[in-house]
Amino acid sequence: MRLDKYLSNAGKGSRKDVKTNIRKGRVTVDREVVKDPKREVEGGEAITLNGLPVILEQDIYIMLNKPRGVISSTETGPTPTVIDLIDHPQSGDLFPVGRLDKDTTGLLFVTDDGQLAHELLSPRKKIAKTYIADLKKDVSELDLQKLEEGIPLKDFTTAPAEALKVAERKVKLTITEGKFHQVKRMFGYLDNEVIGLERIGFASLKLDDTLQRGEYRRLSAEEIDNLK
Ligand code: URA
Repeated sequence: MRLDKYLSNAGKGSRKDVKTNIRKGRVTVDREVVKDPKREVEGGEAITLNGLPVILEQDIYIMLNKPRGVISSTETGPTPTVIDLIDHPQSGDLFPVGRLDKDTTGLLFVTDDGQLAHELLSPRKKIAKTYIADLKKDVSELDLQKLEEGIPLKDFTTAPAEALKVAERKVKLTITEGKFHQVKRMFGYLDNEVIGLERIGFASLKLDDTLQRGEYRRLSAEEIDNLK
């Protein structure tokens, strides 16, 4: 990464500010003053600004309450992404672990830790995801039984799920897979329709109900330990 990008990612000012600081000789790399903002650094070097060490943050763990209308992507385009909601100089290193549909709300885990993300997304790990589905029609006991036994979708049969009716048209569903539109397709098979979908649990994480839609917070040390 370029030295000016490193410094601005570390929250040391805009690209323009950091270029000025570099050109004025206020930045050292491994004890040498470097005046070239384009100088490449790898991150292992000792970098200082005005004599103080500048360290990029690593292992950033965030719980976001996703609102409707934003996509679970890192690509910047016309539609806002979940990463756009996060105000952090290193937001470019962050990505959501798994995806929620544009109209799905709730718990999304966002991190820069590729190793942990890989483990949580591995189908072998059978990580639990819990959703509250608001439905167009009433749900029968037989529907719940079918959800619990497994639903034959076009491309696969879902693994046994936990399904709890919380109101005539509301089900709390825990699944251990994460296929495209899975919950919507499961209810579609039952001749019903999901009209609102919120995720409230992901692995050991529970959605913090003090977070408004679009808000986020860092995970506590205990939440991080429980995830790993
Ligand atoms: N299942 C869906 O259908 N949509 C989601 O966003 C998540 C699970």
